[in-house]
Amino acid sequence: MAVTWYPIINKELCAGCGTCVDFCPHGVYEMGDDGYPVVVAPEECVEFCRGCAKICPSGAIAYFGDVEQVPA
Ligand code: SF4
Ligand code: SF4
Repeated sequence: MAVTWYPIINKELCAGCGTCVDFCPHGVYEMGDDGYPVVVAPEECVEFCRGCAKICPSGAIAYFGDVEQVPA
């Protein structure tokens, strides 16, 4: 199955708090050596979930495949 939806971290906004890594119940993230989350299992991300974006205190998470975020 094609991966059509997964999170993208904006490192310029991310504070490296790790909340998204701890939160995601599907193991999509791991904390990287550089202190930023890494999307290690994009195929596990649940389409339209948006859970991690809602709990990110920095507004640093967007989604590949999110039509609502495509500029008009
Ligand atoms: S959108 Fe949901 S399933 Fe996907 S990475 Fe975030 S919390 Fe995990
Ligand atoms: S919750 Fe937001 S600020 Fe914290 S590590 Fe994840 S993307 Fe970065």
